Amino acid sequence: MKLILFGPPGAGKGTQADKIKSHYDIPHLSTGNIFRYNIKNETELGKKVKSILDAGKLVPDETVVDLVVDEIQKPEYKNGYILDGFPRTIPQAEALDEYLASKETSIDLFLNLEVPEQELIDRILSRAEGRSDDTPEKIKTRLSVYHNETAPVLNHYEKKGKVQKIDGVGSIDDIFGRIKDALDEL
Ligand code: ADP
Repeated sequence: MKLILFGPPGAGKGTQADKIKSHYDIPHLSTGNIFRYNIKNETELGKKVKSILDAGKLVPDETVVDLVVDEIQKPEYKNGYILDGFPRTIPQAEALDEYLASKETSIDLFLNLEVPEQELIDRILSRAEGRSDDTPEKIKTRLSVYHNETAPVLNHYEKKGKVQKIDGVGSIDDIFGRIKDALDEL
């Protein structure tokens, strides 16, 4: 199963991806986690993207697309994956669709986690993971990047009839229950 887990910063994509991963045994591919891992380990990629993540802006499409396409060709992803944080722009979505089409496959489902804006801000400020982009000013930048560049990706997959909306408010288990209902329908 190939899933896209979509939603604004703070929507709970990482939390729900972990639950989907353990329940359905599908690997979780988070571009944000990959970038943070590379920054922490001071790799070439990490050095290239650090200031971008710190500012709450987007890594260039080409860098992210190359990274994801390399990653999903690894054997552990051959039965599917949960994409979290990708695609985040229309060019990224188009590149992904083209790559999958070249392999005669496509995304099975696009889950859109819906959470009101004020709740997003409250959640990010209270999660205290020590992320350098979790300050009020950076959150503002990330939300505006989300509205301008990322939200159109939802429309792109809506046109393809792949989108399931998930109410992202409630307990972690309530939300996961809604995701399970959507996945079990596939
Ligand atoms: P969140 O969803 O909480 O904003 P992520 O962990 O998904 O956080 O991403 C953190 C940061 O990593 C983003 O603000 C951006 O700088 C970078 N990033 C992650 N995925 C992408 C992507 N697909 N395209 C461009 N930049 C990305």
